[in-house]
Amino acid sequence: MASAIAHELNQPLAAIGNFARGMARRITAGRLEPAPLLDGTHEIVTQSERAASIIRNIRAFSQKRASEQKSVDLKAVVGETIALFTGTHPQARVIWQPAETPEVSTVVADPVQIQQVMLNLLKNALDAQQTAGRADEPIEVQFRAEAGACVITVRDGGCGLAPEQFARLFEPFFTTKTEGLGLGLSLSKGIIESLGGTLSAAAHDDGKPGLAIGFSLPREESQEDL
Ligand code: ADP
Repeated sequence: MASAIAHELNQPLAAIGNFARGMARRITAGRLEPAPLLDGTHEIVTQSERAASIIRNIRAFSQKRASEQKSVDLKAVVGETIALFTGTHPQARVIWQPAETPEVSTVVADPVQIQQVMLNLLKNALDAQQTAGRADEPIEVQFRAEAGACVITVRDGGCGLAPEQFARLFEPFFTTKTEGLGLGLSLSKGIIESLGGTLSAAAHDDGKPGLAIGFSLPREESQEDL
């Protein structure tokens, strides 16, 4: 991850250096037409904004919050996050299906981190549906209790993934979006794995277009059993 970040930050920095050197050469040679100089400054602004957004994104995900880990009700956190998401993305139609059964959904986690992971999965689901021209398809979020674990799955009707893209999905900086950074899923995977869980993606069983991305977290009681 660190070397991927270094590589990714190097690109805008190298570009900034190139544009600045090119502009300095022009100025030294007395070629002071404003248009190319202005193009150069715009490029420098764009590249520095890209570098800043990479850093912002990493900061948001990597805040050390170990001290805030506690028993949390996963269903409650997921429900609240969906409300937050639909409040800021009114075009999204999210259907939340917490199991009716009174299954315990207590996990040991930092609720803010779980919220970050969920917001990322929901945003990706909506983006994928927008790419496919189906923004108003329902996005289903399901809860399931398994032996010793709670599983949350986000199912969308979006553009899905080509087979060769599955292998790269969790790679830092893998993105198919023009404005994407490709950090959301790799950082989400890191968060879930640091809590002893797993994050994985699959096509829908029934062959429908779209993707199902889910994470599992150990239930608190099973941690106590260890
Ligand atoms: P970003 O959203 O910045 O691209 P992510 O790490 O969150 O970064 O996602 C990486 C890539 O994985 C996306 O650009 C997209 O190609 C693919 N992806 C993620 N979620 C989905 C989804 N639900 N459906 C289709 N493709 C997805």
